[in-house]
Amino acid sequence: MSKPENLRQIPQDEIGRMEQELSRMEMNLYDSYCEVGKAILETAETEGRKINDLVDQIIDARRRLVDAKEEIYCPECTEHNDRNSLYCKRCGQKLDKKREDCDT
Ligand SMILES: [Zn+2]
Repeated sequence: MSKPENLRQIPQDEIGRMEQELSRMEMNLYDSYCEVGKAILETAETEGRKINDLVDQIIDARRRLVDAKEEIYCPECTEHNDRNSLYCKRCGQKLDKKREDCDT
């Protein structure tokens, strides 16, 4: 029924300060978002390079191992197969027999 006692007229200069404080907090929030975005991008670039290097090294190591074991790669699914296999043991792809053709 009666008006709350603390409902007082807020002076214009205090409203101005409240608006400035709100803007300042919003700017801080925006800056924080930017810092997070930059950090994520830098991490993604750095880790992405490491991952690409590792993937290259792994592919190379696999190839060297396959060569050393005289296995053949399936061109379809990259499964290692015994060099005498006619078809891939994983996907059934007909395997390239170049290596044997050279022997005959
Ligand atoms: Zn295959």
